[in-house]
Amino acid sequence: MRQISRREFIGGAAAAAVLAACSSGDDTSVPTTTSTRALVPTTTRRAAAMSGDPFGLGVASGDPQAESVILWARLAPDPLADDGRGGMPADPVDVTWEVGTDDRFNKVVTRGVTTAEPDVGHSLHVEAEALEPATDYFYRFTVQEWTSPVGRTRTLAAASDMPERFALAIANCQMLDTGRYGAYRHMVDEDVDLVMHLGDYIYEYPGPRALPARVPESLADFRLRYACYRADPDLQAAHARFPFVCTWDDHEVLNNYMGDNVLDGRPPEQVRELRAAAYRAWWEYIPVRVPAPESADVPIYRHIDIGDLARLYMLDTRQHADEPPCRDGGATEDFGNCAARVADRSLLGADQEQWFSEAASASAARWNVVGNPVALSGIDGGTDVSAYYLDSWDGFPEARLRLLDALAGTHNPVILTGDYHAGMVLDAHRRPFEPASDIVATEFLSPPISSALFPADVSARTPQLRQQINAHGYLTVTVERDQLTAAFRVLEDVADADSAVRTEATWHVNAGMPRAVARS
Ligand code: FE
Ligand code: CA
Repeated sequence: MRQISRREFIGGAAAAAVLAACSSGDDTSVPTTTSTRALVPTTTRRAAAMSGDPFGLGVASGDPQAESVILWARLAPDPLADDGRGGMPADPVDVTWEVGTDDRFNKVVTRGVTTAEPDVGHSLHVEAEALEPATDYFYRFTVQEWTSPVGRTRTLAAASDMPERFALAIANCQMLDTGRYGAYRHMVDEDVDLVMHLGDYIYEYPGPRALPARVPESLADFRLRYACYRADPDLQAAHARFPFVCTWDDHEVLNNYMGDNVLDGRPPEQVRELRAAAYRAWWEYIPVRVPAPESADVPIYRHIDIGDLARLYMLDTRQHADEPPCRDGGATEDFGNCAARVADRSLLGADQEQWFSEAASASAARWNVVGNPVALSGIDGGTDVSAYYLDSWDGFPEARLRLLDALAGTHNPVILTGDYHAGMVLDAHRRPFEPASDIVATEFLSPPISSALFPADVSARTPQLRQQINAHGYLTVTVERDQLTAAFRVLEDVADADSAVRTEATWHVNAGMPRAVARS
């Protein structure tokens, strides 16, 4: 994957050097009980006055590797302030962070001082380094008299490890005003190593909880929208409990945008301005290991390895996409059948396609798990005649074939997908809708966390469909050496944050046999 330059994080050592340079000599170093890295003073120098506890948005971690993880916080004493600045003054503020092996921090393994900068909304993306592989850690931040909630995270297995098990929970489609986050409330009790988020983390539609009261157009608007989402205690709890690995879908910017093309016909320059603001706010709120976006071009596709057990690929199926086929005929929605106009268009863009085929062909992992925002195996939702969502892989059949061919060369590919607002199990045939064609992989569509269900039964025209589950919730995926198990965890009532959860269905993929089997 693209490595973020260490210079792009103001890490502990760099901050220490800055502090040393401008120190008046009265720093009080707090000793740590281990010394995996240089100690730094915990006295902070830049201390703009804050109106109260700045940690109301919680803490988060993400994009773990074997020896490092990104730690996130955002200073916001007034998180829902209209201007999106969280009640912060326009000055930098120094923040201490620490990582320990217990939640009381009796044993701190690394710590540092970093600076929350106003131009990134006082968000922090600290890379904690020199950690042990496959290990749980606790972390927290301190600024002036305030200490953040304690977060828990976990590093990945080392490249040389041969793990027996790795588990993840899949989240997507979490519109704030159509349901509560009972799914996240239950997710924190799952025995998983990380959460994979497949997009629609926010929606652009305003609502009583989703401020501002308009579709976001500016960075300030997007910042406030994210703050409303992240103010939710159940979402905060999930971030505090697990590292997240996130990609995005359309609603982080605008419904069904594809590259510079949108359904309302606004010109590309305006779409690029919107994307730049949206991507920047996304970065500010997501614990992600990519540099701070400065434009509308922000590559986020990447992969991570869990020893020799699994390679996880995170795709971006919006930013680099070509215009879907119906739109060049002036369509204002993407549900239809423009087969006659399906030329070779790219959903991933040339660079991402090349990255994927290289990463897949180089992979020796036992399992190759694709985090894929939009449906791949083909879903025909028409009634009398065929109709497809053409902003999904169904609008990009040649590109889909290239992806499937790259996947077919890997050991045990499995596709995990969001967007559809339904749970599904599908056979990904090399030629979708042709049951005699080889099955390359199983695709699991994860249920929405809270967005409105799309309950239309697609089975009549979708022969590759194995099961459809019209419910809210999430998916857990447990990867073992010889078997991958996907469990559909569904809520009784999405309107109730205290809703019960149950396992609606469990499917296995056995190594060497791509077609899933239902647990009897
Ligand atoms: Fe959605
Ligand atoms: Ca979507």
